[in-house]
Amino acid sequence: MPIYEYECEKCKEVLEVLQNPNDEPLKKCEKCGGELHKVIANSTFHLYGSGFYTTDNKRKYLK
Ligand SMILES: [Zn+2]
Repeated sequence: MPIYEYECEKCKEVLEVLQNPNDEPLKKCEKCGGELHKVIANSTFHLYGSGFYTTDNKRKYLK
């Protein structure tokens, strides 16, 4: 089962969720009720924490 990442537009909370590809995507942040975006983390994801802050530019947002 793939892991999907969602980022909340409002509080910037990032959620990792195990979902079937056929499952309904999450739309609402449980913390603040804000809108969630599905995020695809590509191979640059591992640069997190190593001093690079360009990761966000290389992520693709799905609506
Ligand atoms: Zn939120």
